[in-house]
Amino acid sequence: MRRIDVADLERRIVAGDRVALAQAITLVESKAERHRILADELIDRITPRSKSSVRVGISGVPGAGKSTFIDALGLNLVRQGHRLAVLSVDPSSPVSGGSILGDKTRMDRLSRETDVFIRPSPSGGLLGGVARKTREAIALCEAAGYDTILVETVGVGQSETLVRSMVDCFVVLTIAGAGDELQGMKKGILELAHLVVVNKADGDNQVRAESTALEFERALRYFDVKGDDWKPRVKTCSAITGMGVPEVWLAVEEYIRRAESGGDLDRVRRQQNVSWMNDLLVRLLVDLCDSNKELRAMRVALEGEVAEGGVSARRAAQHIVDQVISGLRREHFEEGHNRDALFGKKRGVGAADLP
Ligand code: GDP
Repeated sequence: MRRIDVADLERRIVAGDRVALAQAITLVESKAERHRILADELIDRITPRSKSSVRVGISGVPGAGKSTFIDALGLNLVRQGHRLAVLSVDPSSPVSGGSILGDKTRMDRLSRETDVFIRPSPSGGLLGGVARKTREAIALCEAAGYDTILVETVGVGQSETLVRSMVDCFVVLTIAGAGDELQGMKKGILELAHLVVVNKADGDNQVRAESTALEFERALRYFDVKGDDWKPRVKTCSAITGMGVPEVWLAVEEYIRRAESGGDLDRVRRQQNVSWMNDLLVRLLVDLCDSNKELRAMRVALEGEVAEGGVSARRAAQHIVDQVISGLRREHFEEGHNRDALFGKKRGVGAADLP
């Protein structure tokens, strides 16, 4: 990446320059320390500007039709005057390194629209890192004026829960399934989804799709609703013919309206922000341990002992934290600061203390 002028980048993002937005996302995805410092500065600058958008997660197993569906839905949204960003979270296999969503040309028609920004998944790394990058990419898209953000993910394991924790409404796209196999899946889906969409309800498959939708409806009767007392809605659609796609969006809007008027949307977003902060805190502490030579060596040694069973995991983690704290104290006294100022005893540490 060439030399980066953060103020200029911010100005261009806010002006709606898609190239600048893409560069900014590359910056927040970068692992280089100097990029991280610039990315932090950029995020600080754009945060007050980020108007909140409607954030919708779309999940489904490979082949369920996510990209075809987003292509069809996205075109509808653009025609209604929305500015749309599509971000992907792809839990690339840490073993093979291969991506599940793949590199094929996806969302063909949508990618030609000027009011649409499409960004493939941040590559590699652990899910925690991907989560951070995706949240920051959402903030950047919002600063760039995108009012609707779709976050696409593959319906396997943790990435769904992760995306669910950063969106307002979570849609699970599924297809007509083979009986029993669906049973276990159904419960998991219903726990996460605000909306279940049975796709590919066309041609010979239409009847099967309808009966899968009915099975979901039936499962819902025995389903306990927690929290915001919204029972997941079930819809069928065909991403290929477009049948039912606008109705899916109407159901999303209905959910958002209800959550907004009941104050749930606000409450959930506040919770999400707080858990984002706490995720970052853990992440930063781990990074701190990795970036300091002594701490890293201690961690590696303790990992060995924990693996052998010589030291408990709890004691080892506590020992590292104790070292971090005593290092901080030492550094602070050496710099001639007052310990109370560090720990906020005199005036308390608040947002005003942030740089
Ligand atoms: P993804 O892996 O979930 O993104 O799935 P794709 O969107 O790539 O779709 C997988 C395959 O299913 C492709 O061959 C699509 O053409 C097909 N497909 C997607 N949606 C539909 C649909 O509504 N009806 C039918 N018949 N095929 C579909």
